[in-house]
Amino acid sequence: MTFDVDLVVAGAGGGLTAAIRAAELGLDVLVVDSDPNFRRGNNTSMSTAMIPGPGSRFQSAAGVDDSAERFVADIARKTGGRADVRVATALADVGAELVEWLADHVGMPIELPTDFTYPGHSAPRVHSLPGRHGSALLRHLIDAAERSERVDLMVPARLTDVVTRPDGGVVTTVETPDGGREEVGAHAVLLATNGYGADAELVAEHLPEIAGAHYHGGEHSRGDALRIGRELGAATGFLDAYQGHAALSASARTLVTWTAVMHGGAVVDLEGRRFGDETTGYSEYAAALAARPGGRGWLVFDERIDGLCRAFGDYQDVLAAGAVRTANSAPELAATIGVPPQALESELDALAGVAAGEAADRFGRTAARALVAPLHAVEIIPALFHTQGGLLVDEHARVLDPAGDPVPGLYASGGAAAGISGHGAAGYLAGNGLLPALGLAYLAAGHLARSRATTRPLTPEGAR
Ligand SMILES: Cc1cc2nc3c(=O)[nH]c(=O)nc-3n(C[C@H](O)[C@H](O)[C@H](O)COP(=O)(O)OP(=O)(O)OC[C@H]3O[C@@H](n4cnc5c(N)ncnc54)[C@H](O)[C@@H]3O)c2cc1C
Repeated sequence: MTFDVDLVVAGAGGGLTAAIRAAELGLDVLVVDSDPNFRRGNNTSMSTAMIPGPGSRFQSAAGVDDSAERFVADIARKTGGRADVRVATALADVGAELVEWLADHVGMPIELPTDFTYPGHSAPRVHSLPGRHGSALLRHLIDAAERSERVDLMVPARLTDVVTRPDGGVVTTVETPDGGREEVGAHAVLLATNGYGADAELVAEHLPEIAGAHYHGGEHSRGDALRIGRELGAATGFLDAYQGHAALSASARTLVTWTAVMHGGAVVDLEGRRFGDETTGYSEYAAALAARPGGRGWLVFDERIDGLCRAFGDYQDVLAAGAVRTANSAPELAATIGVPPQALESELDALAGVAAGEAADRFGRTAARALVAPLHAVEIIPALFHTQGGLLVDEHARVLDPAGDPVPGLYASGGAAAGISGHGAAGYLAGNGLLPALGLAYLAAGHLARSRATTRPLTPEGAR
């Protein structure tokens, strides 16, 4: 029985983690990606590069007390107990090792923002890079893969079919845009092709509440993993789960970042009215914003928050696009952005009252700060970022069949796999996209290397 490589990775986003990890454990890897523009066009490159790593040495250095158990409890709370506990636990357990490995083995300048926590996280545990942009994160992954003699990258090339061999392993079919077609034999394949956000029909079928919103994700997220996995008898789950976002700049089409809200910003509709507790989460707020008259609104903040947001490359792009409007008072800002002045002024006064402890917020928001003129506002639209449902996997990222048994030779990670956000949009915690993308890929590589260790030694010492 001969194999061309040990592992085929379909998808050069988070999937590159598997390639780098497998290669350092002594395996030969072929990575294929269908998008010639994957470096700037896939979700990993578009992300804010936020990765949870509970219990990391970066947290210890910052004096942050955290643990995998605490993260799993946060996931259970945010999802109403409806997340896949086995996968959530595996990812919480590997998160710290992953961010440290990214720093030490991939060379990422990992840092831990500690000035605020994202909705649902009970500790600052979301690690990132300077500039907080996925394009830098992906560039480090690509560089590490290209440095490895054991990793080959084939782009553009689309994985179209996988057949399991009766004697073990898989045969993968890879097609190129010029009509080329190649069969590659491997011990295993990792489906890291993301979800189905770019397929409008699948989105309408599974996510009707957000189907009318702007799609802000990779154009090659066409649901290929669902189709390939199902043909091999895989089980799927959580197909109604997704990450939305309520703070995409309407004109810049870039993220304003929810940091603005967590530091005290307010979201109002076109009538100048708040319509909920913004701090519960940006994902579920997308559908809430979509349901307002006109389906859009304004994110209002002040000079202090503007300064804090400037750490984000995305916000710099929003600024550069001229999307931030400024005024010296609430009525003046209302006139500038075209909302009723009295409504906006009374909303900001009410939030200041909440911040001063004079009154309770009618929506239950407790984290509030008075906004101080000059004031800023960015027009925002709701967006679908990525889908969170997919192929059911176990703690090693092995794809499962409906009986719960692994489909031989098949792994899935990231948006190709069912995530850890339960159902709908509200279970999404910051990092629930990249942790399954990089973490499941990392776990898949380790599992494959261990299972291959019976025939050849692992390098360096071993694998999780
Ligand atoms: C603006 C934005 C900000 C975000 N911020 C964060 C954040 O801070 N933290 C977080 O956790 N999540 C975040 N997310 C979500 C996160 O980006 C995704 O969950 C994650 O990147 C998915 O990784 P992936 O590897 O599954 O997919 P991708 O990174 O999209 O990679 C999939 C790759 O597969 C390729 N492909 C598709 N089909 C095939 C095929 N058949 N054959 C070969 N190749 C194929 C695609 O071209 C693509 O390059 C954000 C998303 C967006 C849009």
